This record gives sequence, C-alpha cells and structure tokens, in this order.
Amino acid sequence: MSEYDVIIIGAGISGLTTAYLLHKKGYNILVLEKNDSVGGHIKTTHHEGFQLEAGPHSFLGSSEYIWKLIEKLDFESQAIAASSEAKNRYIYRNKKLHPLPLSPFSFLKTPLLSLKAKGRLMIEPFIPNGAKEEETAWDFFQRRFGKEAATYIMSPFVSGVYAGNVEKLGAKAAFPKFWQFENDSGSMIWGAFKYMRAKKKRFNKEGLSSRKGLYSFKQGLGQITKLLGEKLKNNIRKEIDVLHIKKESETYHLHFGDHTIKTKTLVIATPPKEATKLLSSVMADSVKLLNEIPMAPVTLIHWTVPKNIPIPPGFGFLMPKINNKRVLGTLFPSYLFPNRAPDGHILLASFYGGMLDPIACGLSASLLTNLLLQEHKEIFNTDLAQAKILKITRYEQAIPQLLPTHLNIINAIEKELKTCPGIFLAGNYITGVGMEQAVASGFQAAEKTEYYLKKRKP
Ligand SMILES: Cc1cc2nc3c(=O)[nH]c(=O)nc-3n(C[C@H](O)[C@H](O)[C@H](O)COP(=O)(O)OP(=O)(O)OC[C@H]3O[C@@H](n4cnc5c(N)ncnc54)[C@H](O)[C@@H]3O)c2cc1C
Repeated sequence: MSEYDVIIIGAGISGLTTAYLLHKKGYNILVLEKNDSVGGHIKTTHHEGFQLEAGPHSFLGSSEYIWKLIEKLDFESQAIAASSEAKNRYIYRNKKLHPLPLSPFSFLKTPLLSLKAKGRLMIEPFIPNGAKEEETAWDFFQRRFGKEAATYIMSPFVSGVYAGNVEKLGAKAAFPKFWQFENDSGSMIWGAFKYMRAKKKRFNKEGLSSRKGLYSFKQGLGQITKLLGEKLKNNIRKEIDVLHIKKESETYHLHFGDHTIKTKTLVIATPPKEATKLLSSVMADSVKLLNEIPMAPVTLIHWTVPKNIPIPPGFGFLMPKINNKRVLGTLFPSYLFPNRAPDGHILLASFYGGMLDPIACGLSASLLTNLLLQEHKEIFNTDLAQAKILKITRYEQAIPQLLPTHLNIINAIEKELKTCPGIFLAGNYITGVGMEQAVASGFQAAEKTEYYLKKRKP
C-alpha cells in the first residue's frame, strides 16, 4: 500500500493549497503534476526586463481565502496593493474609452450611458424580485439593470471574468453572490449594500482588517505558487501525467507511464476535462456531465509601448461586443504594480478569443499582431509604430463556463462521489472560476480529506 496518506493530482493553486494545508497538519502527502513546473495558470516569468503574468494579474483585496492562505504562509510582507490608478477602469463606446463612473456626480455626467439608461439603472432597487434558478446572466442583468447597461457594462464585465457568452452563462452558477443579493433582498444594489454592511460588522467583531482594491505580490502572483512549490518540494513529483485511475475494493490505482501508485485517499485538482478522464473508470454516470463543462479558449498577448504614448492610467479597458472589435479587453499592468516594466515603457496585456470568437485563438502570430495593432490604434487613437509584442500565450482550455445547469452537474458529481470513498475534488470549476474560488476549493478539499482520514483511523 502507498506510503502516503493522500495523493493530490495537479499542482495548480487548488492542488497546492490542498497539499500545503494537509502537509502542515502533519499528513504525508504526494503531489503529482503533469508539467515541469508548479502553479498551473498562475505563473510569473521575466522577458527583456518585463515581468509577465501567464494568467491572473491580480486578486481582489476582499478575497478571504487567498488572505487565509497568505497568513498560513506568513507571506503578508510580500503582498502589495495596486496603485490608486487601478480604480480607473475603462469601457469603449462611440470610438472612445470612458472611465467607469466612481461617484454619483460622474455617473450623472458620463457619456457611457444615455440618460434613459441611467434612469433605468437608478430604479433597480424598485424592480420586483424575479430571481429564477436557471436564468442566464444576460436575462438576469437585463432584467435588473436594463438592456443598455447590460450591454455596455455587465456584458463586458462577464467577458472580462469568463471570456464567455453572457447569453449562455447561468446567473446563479456564474455570479452566485449577485444572484443571492436579489434572491435575499429583492434588489442587487440593496443586497450588495446589506452584504457589505454585514461583512464590515463581522470583520470588526472578528478583529479582521478589510482590504479594498487589487493586490499582487512583489515578484508577481507566481511568487505564491513558487513558494508553495518550495515548501512542498520533497512532496511533489513533476512531469507525471496521471492517465487513469482504477478502483480495487477501497484502493485506487493511479497509472502513469509504466508505473502505478496505490492510495486510499485522493484529491483530483485538475481542470474538469482531465478530471473526467481520470474518473471515467470509477464513476459511471455524472462523469459525463463533468466533461460537458465548456472551457473558453483564450490567447493572451503581452506587448509594450513607450511611455510617451497616451494610454490613460488605470487597470485597463473592456470591450463591449457590440463594438465589433475582437479584443476582449486589455490590462495595463505597469500602471498597477511597480517593477512590471523597465523605465520608459508601458506594459499591456490583451485578451483575444473566448467563447464568442474561438477562431481568434488560432490566428497566426503575425495575424494576431496586425489585429492587435490595428484595433488598439483606433482604441487609443494614437500611432503605435513603436509598439512591440513581447509574448503570445495560447490556452485551448482557459476558463470553465458555468452554465445554468452547472449547479446540477456539481450536485450530481458530489452525490456519485459518495460511492467512491476517499476521492475529493478541488479546482476552479466547482464554485467559480477565479483564483479566490480555486484557493477556497483547496481549503474545502483539505477539510473534507482530513475529516475522512480522521474518521477512517482505527
Ligand atoms: C488567461 C487567464 C487569465 C485569468 N485571469 C484571472 C484573474 O484576473 N483573476 C482571477 O481570480 N483568476 C483569473 N484566472 C483564473 C485562475 O487562473 C484560475 O482560477 C486558477 O489558476 C485555477 O487554478 P487550478 O489549480 O484550479 O487549475 P490549474 O491552474 O489549471 O491547475 C491544474 C493543474 O493540474 C495539472 N494537471 C492536469 N491534468 C493532470 C494529470 N492528468 N496529471 C497530473 N497533473 C495534471 C495541470 O498541469 C495544472 O498544473 C485566469 C485564468 C487564465 C487562464
């Protein structure tokens, strides 16, 4: 039998979190990772003096599980808040970038929305509660905020988080907090207000500090996955592609290459398609549902322009689909955190592809470069002759799409997993697609595993 209490498949942030928490509690764990490095989508690299993020570029200060992990790693000193410029976020409309309004006065003044749309948005608290379990995100946002605000504000926001199709994503599955606000309070605005007030009260009571805005680490987000990798270095085996799992009585046989490892307790922390492959011989029915979770393809282009190019300071911009441009949005990382670009340069990160334009991901590097330069010349209304492409990163399966049926899928899997004692899942497809949800899934998988191990002990 295995010398390990638990084997974890996948060393993305979900698997690393699970592994670290169990390791810290004294369990003998082993992580098996397909790639030659850990971190999954969270990785920071360096290129010609630029610091590039392979996936996420920041996390929200309100991310409770990420802070819990940082605290456990005693890593607070490495966390950095984004500059005050990060609060400027832009949306493209009528051939211009418009800042998202930050105050009631700027809301009234902004040309981003028509007067009628502003009026419709302001009556949101009085729109009757119509929360439905399987409503799409588009129907939900349109119903609450009106068509214009849904088109120019909510849809690009959805595209920024999911690279998805707002008409296909489920409101409750993909935006559970927003859905709950309406369900509990009858209004998203009023629900959000009540939620923030309750959170503030809880934080005061528990002596927690509430952090606002965006955060990263001094050496980029990859600093945390690198640290987790170092802490677990004797417990990780890289370049191990687990191909399938077989169950014999209460033991799981993990096959890779010519090898097999046996274990009684297993955490699968891979994307859903890989989890399907691994579980196909131990779970008969719901595993097919897991395979049906669509994954948005995304291509990320890091590029740079000299500092004299007039790019407005801020987090970046989002592109409403109605504008007929192919870029989903562009981040301005060097405005957010120090040391992201050498002096005299601005670092930009543009996203192409997604569920509505998967073909863009397959374009050749030269076509993508031409497209990017042509579109951004118009967006920034400036000459980009001095722009330089730094890196193109392509993901065939970047972001899970949580459709209206998603919660039924997860419930069915959880139910069937009861017939496979000792197997637990972690990953960003379970309750949400962000880094916070991935870390949260790691905490939950560690907790369930520990409970199981304690119960199983003679
Ligand atoms: C381009 C992009 C931008 C993003 N931007 C943001 C953002 O701004 N904010 C945010 O919060 N989130 C963002 N995300 C999402 C965030 O990156 C993810 O939520 C998080 O990284 C998911 O972590 P994970 O561990 O669940 O999965 P992954 O990072 O996918 O890790 C899974 C790991 O499992 C390994 N694996 C798979 N199959 C096997 C196998 N058979 N055997 C062994 N190992 C295997 C993989 O190699 C991988 O290392 C972004 C993602 C992408 C792709």
